[in-house]
Amino acid sequence: MRARNHSFSKRDTSTSPSGPAGIRGADTACDNANMRAVFLPYLVNGAGGDPALWVDVMDEGRALLCDLGDLSRLAPRKLMRVERAMVTHTHMDHFIGFDVLLRQILGRERPLTISGPPGFIDRVEGKLRGYDWNLIEHYPVKIIAEEIDGDRIRAAEFSGAGSLSRSPLPDRPFTRDAAGVGVLHAERAFTLHADLLDHGIPVMAIALRETEHISVNKDRLTRRGLRPGAWLRELKQIARRCRPADELLDAETLEGEPRRLPAAELIDDILSRSPGQRLAYVTDIRPTPENIEKAIALARDADLLVCEAPFLHEDAALAAERGHLTARQAGEIAQAAGARRLAPFHFSPRYTGREAELWQEAATAFQGRVIELPQPAGRQEDRLQ
Ligand SMILES: [Zn+2]
Repeated sequence: MRARNHSFSKRDTSTSPSGPAGIRGADTACDNANMRAVFLPYLVNGAGGDPALWVDVMDEGRALLCDLGDLSRLAPRKLMRVERAMVTHTHMDHFIGFDVLLRQILGRERPLTISGPPGFIDRVEGKLRGYDWNLIEHYPVKIIAEEIDGDRIRAAEFSGAGSLSRSPLPDRPFTRDAAGVGVLHAERAFTLHADLLDHGIPVMAIALRETEHISVNKDRLTRRGLRPGAWLRELKQIARRCRPADELLDAETLEGEPRRLPAAELIDDILSRSPGQRLAYVTDIRPTPENIEKAIALARDADLLVCEAPFLHEDAALAAERGHLTARQAGEIAQAAGARRLAPFHFSPRYTGREAELWQEAATAFQGRVIELPQPAGRQEDRLQ
């Protein structure tokens, strides 16, 4: 059911500074109380600070970042979970957090993949060349930087063994669908889509699409005398892999005992499949017809569109001159895309104290729900967990 939301008073302010309990706004992006979201998004610096959208990939201990604005609010152990970062463009407020992330992953085995618009690999190299790396040869750090270049994705590697100097990797195709949206990365659980828009410089807009949503029917689970546990994650993975039907799995009974059961039978009985969750992230774009069209294609049917809304429409001329949208335009994009929810952000400091007007303007242009994304738990809270 689509929630109509013309008034600011109905804005979903599920903001809470305290971890999973505070992500109700994001969790219900699925519009289904029984469906658990796979992507849990937070705005690291809220709606008014540097752009950085943290996306937890549930149950997998890994996270994605859209933009690398100031990341100093994130605890080191959180940053260690970042597997991929997508940087829309390298204006300072979107890229200044790179150093903070880099410092945390210097000793990490798992590579970091970082993607951006044309010229992005040069920007990463430029950042890395700002430091001396003579003592790093034995560090496991590996950064794979990639950039969209026409119908190709160019890539390069920077590793500790190579003193973080640039070493080229093979290109791969950047394939686009009928709507012109390209695939940046595809894996079993989700795909990562992107397109290049105009902000005076090329800017990358992003969409995350869960391949298929698999949820557990708790009533059926209980009826079978089983209880939730880590084994359900394995069962979902088997379901996604479409492994042979004769595979067995150790389920967990209500008494806490392991019980070996055929995976195919459990998949049929207790799992249900539905279209996957969709999240789009659009920021720093000129309000040109071409940009708007591309943003709508990326945000098509999104459960959540996180979209810049830096200016009020009364300042539309100034917004266009600076290469940005107004809150009304953000609402119109969400509306035209058929998005369920809109999280406006990247508010200009010129409206400090008038943020309510930005929320209101976005809510007036959009018939879905306008929400305020939570911020992740801060450093101190993280240490106490
Ligand atoms: Zn910018």
